[in-house]
Amino acid sequence: MAGPVPTLGNPRSTIEILNKYHVVFQKKYGQNFLIDGHVLDKIMKAAQISEEDYVVEIGPGIGTMTQYLASRARGVTAIEIDRALIPVLQDTLSGYPNVDLVNEDVLKVDLRRLAEEKNGGKPVKVVANLPYYITTPIIMGLFEKHVPLAGITVMVQKEVAERMQAGPGSKNYGALSIAVQYYAEPYVAAYVPPNCFMPRPGVGSAVIRLKTYAEPPVKAADEALLFAVVRASFNQRRKTLQNGLSHVPELGISKDMTIKILTEMGLPESVRGEALTLAQFAEFANRAAACREA
Ligand code: SAM
Repeated sequence: MAGPVPTLGNPRSTIEILNKYHVVFQKKYGQNFLIDGHVLDKIMKAAQISEEDYVVEIGPGIGTMTQYLASRARGVTAIEIDRALIPVLQDTLSGYPNVDLVNEDVLKVDLRRLAEEKNGGKPVKVVANLPYYITTPIIMGLFEKHVPLAGITVMVQKEVAERMQAGPGSKNYGALSIAVQYYAEPYVAAYVPPNCFMPRPGVGSAVIRLKTYAEPPVKAADEALLFAVVRASFNQRRKTLQNGLSHVPELGISKDMTIKILTEMGLPESVRGEALTLAQFAEFANRAAACREA
């Protein structure tokens, strides 16, 4: 063990700390603190934290999951936006010298530099019970800014977890599914009901593990074009791909070009974007990039 056994992760000690520091839950920061040790154990198991790992935790709250992480990992940097929680964290984490606290908005932190400074540029593990209101920008920021990652294990809203792992044919399939699956292999490690948190959230939750790829599973000649095509397709979800794409003239993909490419790919002219796999989106975008250049 890298640090002492956690004392938090149950209702009694959580209430004690909340009362001691007169903590007022900040709804605007998505504060729902975990109070269930079994759920925390499941998160640790899914993230496979060992003494070699350096962990970045987003939103430590009162430090519950931080204690679990710090007792297993070599080191943890915990980034918390709410200044009022810093004295609480200094107390609950006082027995864990391997934790660094950063009082910042995670969206403003250069996590690539942090990995460089704390882990010599080697991949870090991101583990968090995320503030749900910024789940997508946090996850996409990690991928798009090419933070060196040895995996992401996060609690998210149940529906968001389902969108991340959905494929064609599912009503949950969308731009987020494609974006996540371009960078990582998702699997849901646990579903977590509202009574495992204090206060209880109004939605169900799930722990999702994103196993990051060394290389994306498909080759995109122009990543920006691939994601622009994906966004345009799902913005006009009920439209055919040719109509969806022609609605976004900046793409430079005419209806004729779409029909030509779909025919070459052996797909019907009337296909909707929501029917395409990630590989088909990539092939479509690669062919469109080649047509635009010709
Ligand atoms: N990890 C704790 C737990 O599991 O009990 C708290 C999780 S709570 C769902 C989300 C935490 O993220 C809160 O502590 C909140 O203040 C923090 N947070 C919200 N927005 C943030 C941001 N932009 N940057 C960093 N932390 C943020």
